Amino acid sequence: MQVTTAAPRTYWLEHAWLGTHVEPGVALEVADGRIAAVGTGVPAPPPGAEVLRGLTLPGLANAHSHAFHRALRGTVQVGSGTFWTWREVMYATAARLTPDSYHALARAVYAEMALAGITAVGEFHYVHHAPGGTPYADPNAMGEALIAAAAEAGIRITLLDTAYLSSGFGQPPTGHQLRFSDGDAEAWAARSSLLKERDHARIGAAIHSVRAVPAEQLQTVARWAEERRAPLHVHLSEQTAENEACRDIHGCTPAQLLALHGVLGPRTTGVHNTHLTAEDISLIGGSGTGTCMCPTTERDLADGIGPAAALQNEGSPLSLGSDSHAVIDLLEEARAMELNERLRTRTRGHWTAAALLRAASEDGHAALGWDEAGALEAGALADFTTLALDSVRTAGPLPRLGAETAVFAASAADVSHTVVAGRHVVRDGVHSLVPDVPRALADAVEALRG
Ligand SMILES: [Zn+2]
Repeated sequence: MQVTTAAPRTYWLEHAWLGTHVEPGVALEVADGRIAAVGTGVPAPPPGAEVLRGLTLPGLANAHSHAFHRALRGTVQVGSGTFWTWREVMYATAARLTPDSYHALARAVYAEMALAGITAVGEFHYVHHAPGGTPYADPNAMGEALIAAAAEAGIRITLLDTAYLSSGFGQPPTGHQLRFSDGDAEAWAARSSLLKERDHARIGAAIHSVRAVPAEQLQTVARWAEERRAPLHVHLSEQTAENEACRDIHGCTPAQLLALHGVLGPRTTGVHNTHLTAEDISLIGGSGTGTCMCPTTERDLADGIGPAAALQNEGSPLSLGSDSHAVIDLLEEARAMELNERLRTRTRGHWTAAALLRAASEDGHAALGWDEAGALEAGALADFTTLALDSVRTAGPLPRLGAETAVFAASAADVSHTVVAGRHVVRDGVHSLVPDVPRALADAVEALRG
């Protein structure tokens, strides 16, 4: 099953978020997978229209995902520890993945995303080879498994093929990390270049972190992305230990090291951007480098709270990701960014609900190379999602209806419809392509427990 383009049709939206306000009674003409026209002032559904009751938003973009981390949900909450102890458990799960088991898990995880209103995912993918580092017969068997999984779950994917070449500064990969490594950046580039884009799939690049790619090889990855005008993502200063090691070896911060080697720029997104100096914030913002915040993961892993407001003020566009999939709910990620900032500063109102929705959709899509998605407007990809307004979370008088309802009260459980390329992927809360998503998740996770 592929993400296919549906026949021309009209969708009637009871309420639609048009980027600045909620508009009642909107007709979307959809053809060739795109929005052909947006009609307002349409109080009742035209004959033959698909009726979407509730509040329809542009599709949500999950800009940072590691699909296999979903297998850890609920298993890593007992006991004390840090990011680094959590990482050992995560590595043990990565060690058990095969192309088939990864495909089954990712298909279920991406179906969970569709049920949460997500229409595009950025998969930060680094489990490339068999355990020990031996390439599969198809050297991109794992990446292809993820691309196929997204198609079967009905969502778009940007496969951010990740260079992961060292275990620490100057340290070769060890143990579980061997299967992540191509040896050097040239070999990474040769393998990544074999991946082909499809209607539902784009190919981007990623640098796992300044820990995992030697400084002299950063430019090779940056150049690969530059030549293709492709997105380039990098985990950046998620942990203070990374900053300290970078200072010891290179005498500068990770952001400075990336700037020095040509990694920063408008097609680059720093993921987390948590522990930054004022100069780092200026470097990132001034270069137009994006920031992907992953608040539910950052709080789950006790990472800290990144300076998202300061980064945006300096020019860094914001996107959101569910990263480790402790939960998959982009509305929760959006409100968490604002609520974290409130806790940190003890003041309210850092972002409007409209600005948070923009991060969750339009700017998230742009960070993944889908600039033509993320808005309900003529010419945009026909990707959108509808929230029920009659649930226990969202019910209330219509004058109060606005983006605030979606961002500050609703959850993934309120998603009733998800449409990708004009095709209904979720209808009335039921996935159209994956019949029993909870079962698919349970089976795929069980298979990995071994
Ligand atoms: Zn990550």
